[in-house]
Amino acid sequence: MIYLNLKERFMNTHEYLKNIPKVDKLYNIISADTIFQDAPRTVVIQSIQVVLEELRKEILEEKKTAIDIRESTIIKTIKDFLFKTLQPNLTNIINGTGIIVHTNLGRSVLSSEVLKHVSKIASHYSNLEFDLNTGKRGQRYSIVETLICFLTGAEAATVLNNNAGAVLIALQTIADRKEVVVSRGELVEIGGSFRIPDIMALSGACMIEVGTTNRTHLYDYESAITPETALLLKVHQSNYAITGFTASVSIKEMVELGKKNNIPVMNDLGSGNLVDLSKKGLMYETTVQEMIAAGVDIATFSGDKLLGGPQAGIIVGKKIIIDAIKKNPMARALRIDKLTLAALEATLRLYQNPKTVFETVPTLRLIDRSLTEIKDCAEKICKSFKSFNLKNLNIDIVKRNSKIGGGALPLQKLPSYCISIVSDFVSPDKIDKYFRSQTPPIVGRIENDQFFLDCRTILSDEISIVEEAIKRFHRIEKND
Ligand SMILES: *Cc1c(COP(=O)(O)O)cnc(C)c1O
Repeated sequence: MIYLNLKERFMNTHEYLKNIPKVDKLYNIISADTIFQDAPRTVVIQSIQVVLEELRKEILEEKKTAIDIRESTIIKTIKDFLFKTLQPNLTNIINGTGIIVHTNLGRSVLSSEVLKHVSKIASHYSNLEFDLNTGKRGQRYSIVETLICFLTGAEAATVLNNNAGAVLIALQTIADRKEVVVSRGELVEIGGSFRIPDIMALSGACMIEVGTTNRTHLYDYESAITPETALLLKVHQSNYAITGFTASVSIKEMVELGKKNNIPVMNDLGSGNLVDLSKKGLMYETTVQEMIAAGVDIATFSGDKLLGGPQAGIIVGKKIIIDAIKKNPMARALRIDKLTLAALEATLRLYQNPKTVFETVPTLRLIDRSLTEIKDCAEKICKSFKSFNLKNLNIDIVKRNSKIGGGALPLQKLPSYCISIVSDFVSPDKIDKYFRSQTPPIVGRIENDQFFLDCRTILSDEISIVEEAIKRFHRIEKND
């Protein structure tokens, strides 16, 4: 082995640098490998340069006493780097976290039916912004407006890039340089640095906080109203819940107060739910329809949380306000993309049939997934291990709870079956890392120093992949 050991060896740094193989030579060797025969030349050269640059840096830093600069080692490093470079960065993963709407893992999974529509629309020209009746320019939100109004009972609707944008544009349109009254218990931060006070400041509205963290009363809102008040705002508490000695004002009461004072009421619903989850034995979660029926002037919600569609921000409510939002120049900056719009329309159409929606929308299907089915999935994955005599490795099926995620029903526990993997030699962190390094990566969770794969969120076509990964882990573990 060629070592860089400056203190003990006669060779100096310069001589080491000279020993690094030349780019051309490396290129010829690497491009001769059949795996890389179709790799574009510039990509191969760039990969070689990156790896060599890293090596030169290491040599010049003189921190390490030994650096392997054998040609074969360098070639292997470059090949690994190049292989990774040629793979798409955005890749499918297997969700073993048990969190159904997981923002870091892409929130909602779309059904093949929805994707068929997206693919059809995107592969040809479409009437995205073209009114076929007049032959003139149309509005892209009109594609889904009527559908949303039918489903929610709202007078008008529009759609934008995401709910954060929807909240921002609504506040800016209604309350720029005016006052917005909001309860202290609802000044939430949602992951990814969405904070109500920050969005409020960005919109130009002046936030008037009322009540306390745990208790807000109607008179708190009432006494905060001034001639400058432009909006009463209610925000879904999303991913946290206040329990114990609490009080909050219902949307009905807020609507009454708003009507009395001629001030609109807005509700940032966060997740946005169109179905009665209590029918499925879950906790009650207000639906958008109920909000509209309660008389709220404007409500906003996400497309990719409980709704189970693509990332989008949906605004429903009074026509006069929606019209003003549509005219706001910010609407152009936050406009929804056509792939998203196609997916959103197809998802909303699934809601037109409430009888099948818990089967056709994957997010709802996972929420409603039966314990028997989850257990069956766990047993399938574990089947081949039961026959092994595993001394140092414990693979068990255990009952745990999954979560809905996406800020919906934070207290709702969904009973589920998990596969727990415990090794005498490998720490839970290392097990976790092993599964994440698989192709496709498998993401589990660590709870009480134990690694779990929650089967609720493992899709049926992923079962064999997980099984294979556990088998490989067993072999590696045995040889360690
Ligand atoms: C998630 C959430 C948002 C942000 O929605 P995005 O679609 O992620 O932009 C805003 N408000 C509440 C209450 C939320 O739960």
